[in-house]
Amino acid sequence: MSTTRMPVLFIGHGSPMNIIQDNSYTRDLVSLASAMPLPSSILVVSAHWLTRGTAVTTAARPRQIYDFSGFPAELYGVHYEPIGAPDAAARLMAEDSRVQSDDGQWGLDHASWAVLCHMYPKADVPVWEMSLDASLTAAEHARLARVLAPLRERGVLIIGSGNVVHNLRVIDFNDDARPFPWAEEADRWIRDRILAHDLPGLSAYESAGPAIAKAVPTNDHYLPMLYALALREEGETLAFTHEGIQNGSISMRCFRVG
Ligand code: ZN
Repeated sequence: MSTTRMPVLFIGHGSPMNIIQDNSYTRDLVSLASAMPLPSSILVVSAHWLTRGTAVTTAARPRQIYDFSGFPAELYGVHYEPIGAPDAAARLMAEDSRVQSDDGQWGLDHASWAVLCHMYPKADVPVWEMSLDASLTAAEHARLARVLAPLRERGVLIIGSGNVVHNLRVIDFNDDARPFPWAEEADRWIRDRILAHDLPGLSAYESAGPAIAKAVPTNDHYLPMLYALALREEGETLAFTHEGIQNGSISMRCFRVG
């Protein structure tokens, strides 16, 4: 195994309130970053960027997107403005024509910066994003993920950023909200299949029963997990770096591959 291959992460980003909080989840993000080599750039597969076709950000200076509303003013005062990685993006686009430029239209939504402001608070590592093609099935997303495999050898840290259990219709913003039983059940089902590296089973989540149906009412936050898992190479380790459910219906499960 190459000693220079970067790990791959899946990060549950949860409520934007985590941006300004100091809790067990944010502390685990800090520990995770400090345990890894410094990346050449960070590519975030974002739950918050749905497109037709697959796009990557190509701006040299991507804008910070505050893609949430109704939160305390303090969140809108958090500035996280790393440079982009247009050369890394151009190389990926040249390697696979399915990946297209966003022509500078997007930027860094909070699937990126809400997490990275804890992991790399100095914003001194270039960051770019990849979108989710809304026309693909889950299994097609898992196959598409493989186009990213060579990036690991170039020092790129790939992060799938979403939440494996994510139901906003019943979210409880109290910090001490009790997890819904179906959320815990779904989180365990997903955990067990991640541990078994059961990508086909995870891709077929729609036939997995009522708990998963409530946990994954739309799949935008679920799919980034498939990208991270699909990038695990034979024999690579996988470790959960944080577990737990916030706000009743949001799994903050995170894992590291490699
Ligand atoms: Zn989100």
